[in-house]
Amino acid sequence: MKSAIAVNAVADGGNSGNSTDMRRFFRNRAELIDYLRCAFPMAAAVDDTVTATVGGRRAAEALLEQIDPARYAATRNHLHGAVTRLSPYLRHGVLSLAEVRDVALRKVDAAWKAAKLINELGWRDYFRRVYGVIGGGVWRDLEPIKTGLAPSDYADALPADIAAGETGLACIDAFSRKLRTTGYLHNHARMWLAAYVVHFRRVRWQAGARWFLTHLLDGDPASNNLSWQWVASAFGHKPYIFNRDNLEKYTDGVYCRGCPLRGRCDFEVGYGEIAARLFPQAHATEPSSSTVEALRRVEIDRSDSSAMSEPPKLKNPVLWIHGDNLTPHNPAFRAFPAAPAIWVWDDALLQHSRISLKRILFIYECLLELPLVIRRGDVATEVLRFAAEHRADGVVAVASPSPGFKRRRRRIEQTAPVAILPDVPFVEPSSPLDLRRFSRYWRKVEHLAMQPTAAQRTL
Ligand SMILES: Cc1cc2nc3c(=O)[nH]c(=O)nc-3n(C[C@H](O)[C@H](O)[C@H](O)COP(=O)(O)OP(=O)(O)OC[C@H]3O[C@@H](n4cnc5c(N)ncnc54)[C@H](O)[C@@H]3O)c2cc1C
Repeated sequence: MKSAIAVNAVADGGNSGNSTDMRRFFRNRAELIDYLRCAFPMAAAVDDTVTATVGGRRAAEALLEQIDPARYAATRNHLHGAVTRLSPYLRHGVLSLAEVRDVALRKVDAAWKAAKLINELGWRDYFRRVYGVIGGGVWRDLEPIKTGLAPSDYADALPADIAAGETGLACIDAFSRKLRTTGYLHNHARMWLAAYVVHFRRVRWQAGARWFLTHLLDGDPASNNLSWQWVASAFGHKPYIFNRDNLEKYTDGVYCRGCPLRGRCDFEVGYGEIAARLFPQAHATEPSSSTVEALRRVEIDRSDSSAMSEPPKLKNPVLWIHGDNLTPHNPAFRAFPAAPAIWVWDDALLQHSRISLKRILFIYECLLELPLVIRRGDVATEVLRFAAEHRADGVVAVASPSPGFKRRRRRIEQTAPVAILPDVPFVEPSSPLDLRRFSRYWRKVEHLAMQPTAAQRTL
């Protein structure tokens, strides 16, 4: 380690070992929530609702045991279908895609019965790989939109009536409230809400994506932004729209039945009429853009591959735990079980991203199950300070596609060696992937994805 690092003192919760550590022990959830309200007033000001969904590996394992892949395949498009609700745990690496796939295969008597669920897990893997290539590009249109409208036809900000759930449309208002109060929405509700925001209200998809990231417990720049882009037609062949028949079919009509706008809402008519009304000058555009071309041939990053990586050459490191791997099975804990570990809340990021209290609570509950200290401030500075306190010979972290992770890693590397361990892979293809569309990716990896992890190692 080159130098001592300046200390930013942070209020101590009163039961920690170090004056900069945040609290780890609480009598009950209510006490934890009170603490977080005080510690993160900005998040509480954005929205201080908390949800019943509990963070951490114990809760994730209980949910994982309940999955029913065959029922999932038959009912997943229905709002009350047998979806897994595993997304917050997958988002934060509390569970890996591989272990969900393995449990799904164990639960069926023939692999094809788990195929739909495994295909959906593949979407998450796909989006993460795209994110690894384009990074902050997830915030910009990947392709020209195909609606025939100009960017200036779309409003920059999310209208207040949508955010407040006061549009008068029973379905949209219910989805908006549910997003805010539970931090979760069924995939179909996300699609309908996104289509309403972007196409029926002509709002830029980025405004909707930011709104979702504020509230979703699974909020993830990769899956979220690329899904919004798909709805908007910035990462797909045409805009996604829906009509009342479609919504009624998958909601059993619960919203339309009592809706004050029943019979006169914008969704009443057929698809052709809605499309003609919303996109009078629509044209199909070939998906050619330099961003998408960069996805044509993506080399497999061997630092993300357990089979290929060298063990790090550090003897006495500290572990930097980030938001993609909040599990006791984190490869860093496995490789260095006795090493001190740290999580840092990034104050600047919290201010910028405006995440709500329920997201902080979920992550904090995940952290409380892990052997680490919790601090806050500038991440690189705090990690380096922690390393200096422990006279470490370097820092170990698990790979992440996030550009924020890569930036912080580079800053830490200016002062200390950093070893990056591979994350648990979902599939390990042996040759480059074409990521321009999910279908191309899936054609190449499906045979791997459908194998249990143990069998993949022998393929
Ligand atoms: C506009 C929009 C925004 C979205 N934002 C996010 C987000 O921020 N974070 C996020 O994890 N997912 C996001 N999704 C994808 C999907 O809606 C959620 O992953 C899924 O609804 C989570 O519920 P579940 O765990 O019950 O899913 P299940 O249907 O039970 O699926 C199991 C798992 O597969 C993965 N998965 C399923 N469908 C998709 C999909 N279409 N794309 C990517 N992964 C998928 C998820 O990890 C999910 O937990 C978004 C979709 C849309 C249309």
